[in-house]
Amino acid sequence: MNFRIGHGYDIHRLQTGGRLMMGGVRVSEQMSPIAHSDGDVVAHALVDALLGAMGLGDIGLRFPTTDTKWKDADSSIFVLDAMRELAGRGGRVVNADVTIAAERPRLSGFRDGMAEKLREWLGTPHVNVKAGTNEGCDAIGNGQAVAATVVVLIELRA
Ligand code: MG
Repeated sequence: MNFRIGHGYDIHRLQTGGRLMMGGVRVSEQMSPIAHSDGDVVAHALVDALLGAMGLGDIGLRFPTTDTKWKDADSSIFVLDAMRELAGRGGRVVNADVTIAAERPRLSGFRDGMAEKLREWLGTPHVNVKAGTNEGCDAIGNGQAVAATVVVLIELRA
């Protein structure tokens, strides 16, 4: 058994207008993240979890925000890059557990779609997506930001 666990966290401030992507799904067309790429907090936390499990640092090292190439980039590019690294090690994702904190937009109608997209990205049916508010606390609770944490378990070739 050659298991590794990884954890990722990401937060983005929100602004009015534009579109908001989470887990590769468009969850709002009334607000957008202040971000260099498309600002998908679920995708970014997922990439950090995968990179962490492989001991490969973090998303900022691989895709610097100073590089104009990643401006408005579709974050699935970052996920697929991490999955290529995993495949190169003969590895696979065992499961992923996602927690989103967002006072707005309401995410209940998007959880299944996000989980489906993550299953596709990660090549495993074992994906769980949880979404809650921040109970009115801090910037997330005030609707000024959204955040996500992700834990993944991977198995590497023995
Ligand atoms: Mg980010």
